[in-house]
Amino acid sequence: MLILATKNRGKIRELKALLEELDVEVGSLLDYPEMPEVLEDGSSFFENALKKARAVSEYTGDPVVADDSGLVVECLGGRPGIHSARYAGPRASDEDNYRKLLEEMRGVPDSERAAAFRCSLVLYHPDGTYRSFEGMLEGFVAQEPRGTKGFGYDPVFIVPEYGKTVAELPSEVKNRISHRARAFQELKKTLKKEARIH
Ligand code: IMP
Repeated sequence: MLILATKNRGKIRELKALLEELDVEVGSLLDYPEMPEVLEDGSSFFENALKKARAVSEYTGDPVVADDSGLVVECLGGRPGIHSARYAGPRASDEDNYRKLLEEMRGVPDSERAAAFRCSLVLYHPDGTYRSFEGMLEGFVAQEPRGTKGFGYDPVFIVPEYGKTVAELPSEVKNRISHRARAFQELKKTLKKEARIH
């Protein structure tokens, strides 16, 4: 059994679909409601994903896939980065977070608004070995929010190839080009090659 280190039902559905053709039994943290929360206090997406994957694998005794992601803005020295989910405070909504970002970037010209969504994935085996995978979607931060699809910073992230924010793109497009999709494609290639998941 391969465990996905998340309780987010949307993510679980998306990831199970992605892993379907591999013929692997897939579980998630919803199957382990009593497992204590893992503190995401690493200094990078990779460290947080590894910490989560290791903790869940030690708890369940199974191989685990964990991910961590966020938005990295160049002119802000990489912020919000690993703090993306709670950028505007511990109970901040998605809108609170992107409004704070736009406020901080007020007056920054289009040419200096480069940003990227990043995702780190870790596939962790109970013997302590692991592999990591990275995915990235490059673009820039809009001056104003646009679109209603997606979540998080999607309304303020413009994908240059489409000239649209992620929140204006159909979900099929997002699920093909996103940082998470790209990292999972890499993971899938490895899972197909390795016969280590039973
Ligand atoms: P996590 O990887 O689920 O912990 O996501 C961290 C945070 O990064 C989310 O709460 C969002 O604010 C942001 N984020 C991650 N992926 C996306 C995305 O695909 N679109 C918009 N925001 C995202």
